Amino acid sequence: MRLACLRDADGVRNFFSIDDDATARKLSRPPWEGIDVAGEPRPWDPADLAAPVCPTKVVCIGRNYAAHARELGNDVPSEPLLFLKPPSSIIGPRERVLLPPQSSRVEHEAELGVVISRRATDVSREDALSYVLGYTVVCDVTARDLQRKDVQFTRGKGFDTFCPVGPWIETELDPSRVRVRCSVNGEVRQDGTTEHMIFDVPTLIAAITSVMTLEPGDLIATGTPEGVGPLVDGDSVEVSVEGIGALPFSVALRRPG
Ligand code: MG
Repeated sequence: MRLACLRDADGVRNFFSIDDDATARKLSRPPWEGIDVAGEPRPWDPADLAAPVCPTKVVCIGRNYAAHARELGNDVPSEPLLFLKPPSSIIGPRERVLLPPQSSRVEHEAELGVVISRRATDVSREDALSYVLGYTVVCDVTARDLQRKDVQFTRGKGFDTFCPVGPWIETELDPSRVRVRCSVNGEVRQDGTTEHMIFDVPTLIAAITSVMTLEPGDLIATGTPEGVGPLVDGDSVEVSVEGIGALPFSVALRRPG
């Protein structure tokens, strides 16, 4: 099942179950409050897609692929490395990532996203996937120079627009072996597989919920494979996860005011 958020002509967002390329049916409430298909089939337009999540927090995993840890000169972690992106950084498909004047090196990180279905505290690895609503595509946009300069990640990962998410939530996916890709202006930059994650999705959910409660609708960004690289003004980017779909966005300069 594909669960998408669509904007109507007045900019109001509603959740829909996507039947196919032509029709979708409205949900009575956000899917993490329970999937209830209430509407009749109606036409939909990919141009109306909005970010399919509005989480209380975005929990991210650093260095979850050995080849990516190495490309940045980092050791492979012995336990999941957690950090947060603010929900204010989220944008939807076809929106613009804005390059802030404080940074001269902003990079793409293509990632599998996990959306939580119910409150999760101290969840075991065995039970973890029963707390998953579905999966989506995330780009963990990063001001690499500021991440290095600040030591911790809040500024480098937290700018407005630094978290493109979409195009929808796919509820039927085995997250253990799917390709994660990023292309910039049609050139493939990242092409990895979740098989190479150091810590798999159940392990991540167990680790996160041993620290903080995950709420319905919360989003986990599971780390990026190797091939991260710079984004510049005018770039056209597409991040995709096999079995989910493609998340396109563009890049522009952030202008004060
Ligand atoms: Mg990342």
